[in-house]
Parts: sequence; C-alpha cells; structure tokens
Amino acid sequence: LRDEIGKMERLSLVGQMAASITHEIRNPMAVIRGFVQLMRERSPESQQEYFRIVMDELDRANAIINDFLSLAQNRIIAKESCSLHVIMNELMPLLWADANLRGQSIELDLADDIPMLEMNDKEIKQLILNLARNGMEAMGDKGVLHLRTVNLGNGLQLRVEDEGIGISKEKMDRLFEPFFTTKTRGTGLGLPLCLSIAERHNGRIEVQSEEGKGTAFIVTFMKNGGAVPLAAAVRRA
Ligand code: ADP
Ligand code: MG
Repeated sequence: LRDEIGKMERLSLVGQMAASITHEIRNPMAVIRGFVQLMRERSPESQQEYFRIVMDELDRANAIINDFLSLAQNRIIAKESCSLHVIMNELMPLLWADANLRGQSIELDLADDIPMLEMNDKEIKQLILNLARNGMEAMGDKGVLHLRTVNLGNGLQLRVEDEGIGISKEKMDRLFEPFFTTKTRGTGLGLPLCLSIAERHNGRIEVQSEEGKGTAFIVTFMKNGGAVPLAAAVRRA
C-alpha cells in the first residue's frame, strides 16, 4: 500500500510539474519571440545584444527541459558498492575547471577509510555537481568552495560549504520547491533533483546558512538502510 501511495504521489507530482514546466518554458519562448521580432526591426548594432539574449534564453529553455527530464524519469537506478571518494575524484577535473573559470578555488578535506555504500555513481555525481555549482554561483571571485567528507562509521556525510551570499529565512522555506530560483538563468530544478537523488539513496539533506557568510549543504548517507541521525533531518518546503 505504501508503494501504491508513493507511486500516486509521484504521478501527481509529475502532473503538477508538467503544468509548471509548460509555464516555465513559455517565459523564455516569449522573450525569444520578442527579441527575434526586434532583431528584424532594429539596427544591426543592437542585433548583437538581442542575439545574445536569444541564445541565453534558448539555453535556459534547454536546461529546464534537461533538468526536468532527469527529475521526472522515474527510473529504476542500478546501485553498486562505491566509494564516495572515487566518485568525487572522477568529478574533480570538471569542478576545478568550473571554479577556475570563475576565479574561485576548491578545497578538499576528505575523511579516512570511509565506508563503501550502495550508490549510483551517475546520480551521485549529479548531486555533487548541482550542490557545488550552487555554491560557486553564490560566491564572487576568490571564493573558496569546501568539499568535505565525514566518516560516521555506519555511514558518511558529504558537506558542500561555500563562502557566498547565504540564504535568507524566506528563501530557505522555498529552496526545494520545483522552479524556485533567484537566478536570471536558473531553472530552480537543481535542488529538487538533489533531493530526489538523496531520497533514492536513503540519504538526507540538511542546510545551514548565514546571510553574508555562506551556506553548507550536508548530505548524510547511512549504510544498510540505517537511520539517519536526527541532526540531519530533511529541510524541505
Ligand atoms: P537554480 O540554481 O537553477 O536557481 P536550484 O534548485 O539549484 O536552482 O536552487 C534554487 C535556489 O536556491 C537558487 O536560485 C538560490 O536562490 C538558492 N540557493 C541554492 N544553493 C545556494 C547556495 N549555496 N547559496 C545561496 N543560495 C542558494
Ligand atoms: Mg542550481
């Protein structure tokens, strides 16, 4: 029965999201239409700027569709016994490059002898990438992103900590809401995706933030379906 209810909840969530995505895709489409019209009417000089806006909005529509598909695909994911550090290691070149482009740096602080856990490496990469990108996007240049792991013995914690703008109380309540974004080119689907990945891995996400100081996203994974310590309760809208 619980499975059935879970399925129905997911279906209705996907239905609600299908309605939202239609709305979300219409925004960039309306902007693109407007600017293509202007490109026809205005001088060649202003066309460069309009062209940039059109490309940006096309990219945004594309990102919304991609993120939405990752979220809506109710796939049965294959898990294997993995080391989180091996997964992180494979992702680091991409993250260093990303940080480098922004004039930022990444500091790693990895625990010893972390336990192996049943994970889907693709999904865990996506989770780390989303949290790390959010951290970088919250910081200016020279910002440092800290990626830490903590060995809990019967589980482990991944901490993604930034020195960015932080999150106000009002925003905190809406953080995991699909399509909630404060970025001009955001999709608002990154954190809902992180949450669903964490849930599929019996994990929990906790957020600690101080405005003007920075934010920590803490993902706790337990071994063999062990209970996640209370301190790591999910914060969700
Ligand atoms: P997006 O990044 O596309 O906006 P997300 O779901 O990843 O969508 O994040 C939703 C919102 O949560 C962001 O727009 C931002 O306002 C806030 N947020 C997420 N991570 C952070 C962070 N590390 N620091 C500050 N704000 C954050
Ligand atoms: Mg994001």
